[in-house]
Amino acid sequence: MAEPRNVIIIGSGPTGYTSAVYAARANLQPLVFEGSVTAGGALMNTTEVENFPGFRDGIMGPALMDEMRAQAERFGAELVPDDVVEVDLTGDVKVVKTSTETYTAKAVILAMGSGYRKLGLPREDELSGRGVSWCATCDGFFFREQHIAVVGGGDSAIEEATFLTRFGSKVSLIVRRDELRASKIMQERAFDDPKLEIVWNSAVAEINGADRLESLTLEDTVTGERRQLDATGLFIAIGHDPRSELLTGQVDTDDNGYVVVEHPSTRTNLIGVFAAGDLVDHQYRQAITAAGTGCAAALDAERYLAELE
Ligand code: FAD
Repeated sequence: MAEPRNVIIIGSGPTGYTSAVYAARANLQPLVFEGSVTAGGALMNTTEVENFPGFRDGIMGPALMDEMRAQAERFGAELVPDDVVEVDLTGDVKVVKTSTETYTAKAVILAMGSGYRKLGLPREDELSGRGVSWCATCDGFFFREQHIAVVGGGDSAIEEATFLTRFGSKVSLIVRRDELRASKIMQERAFDDPKLEIVWNSAVAEINGADRLESLTLEDTVTGERRQLDATGLFIAIGHDPRSELLTGQVDTDDNGYVVVEHPSTRTNLIGVFAAGDLVDHQYRQAITAAGTGCAAALDAERYLAELE
């Protein structure tokens, strides 16, 4: 069997590519699994990114990810456009499998990110970055003086909605039931906000618009009646799912599936296994924080490997 590699990185968003740049520049010849469908991560599904430092005029999400990818390759990271389907991370030598090959490494960096839950409606993906968003911090600024709708009834939906009242002329929070799941303090914040309207017993039935979001069709969850809402922004805040299924029974996760690390390091419960980015972070979820922790994971892995020698 071939000698184990120094480090394998699983994931190709800002976390994975930043880990790859640092690991490659530390001469560790990292092998990066990018995924077969969504290489480049969450930013491949958006248009303008205006808050990643270094780009004063903003940059398109896919262009930013192309730059990160090319930067990792420039320093010798080996990129594989394939999915990891199984891992055994418990021993000193870590085993990582795709559907066709088995690889081994002394250290592994987990950077699989998390998936935003979708409504599952026909125009949702096409209008992503064109009026439909999953991140108020990222995109709120684009919706100044517009009518914005937010879907969801939990704490994060209310947080997004109240944040968006800074920008929108009006914010409509669309809630399936006649009550909110959010904590009492968040509910009070919503009720007290004069720019925030709560649309009870309602679900988004259709997302309408040719090139950009033009309106929503809402369905009354009690009567089934439909009506138009002339919102030009839609923020979907119904939760995220960290991509941690591979790790079950090996790497510790919290109740929601996020990998637990020994903050401020990126060490998991298993030696030689590090995790970073949206797979760990349910708090900030930004490209720059993902890149920052990706850097930390590479430095942690480098130190771990140095101690092994
Ligand atoms: P991801 O970007 O999710 O990358 C994870 C990668 O790992 C994916 O490519 C996935 O395919 C791969 N992967 C997963 N499992 C496997 C496996 N088993 N094998 C191989 N590969 C695997 N943030 C900002 O800072 N500014 C913005 O303007 C902004 N806009 C956004 C717009 C949208 C529509 C979305 C969805 C998010 C936006 N964000 C923005 C948030 C930002 O994209 C994320 O915080 C960031 O991408 C997280 O990086 P990550 O590398 O941890 O995960």
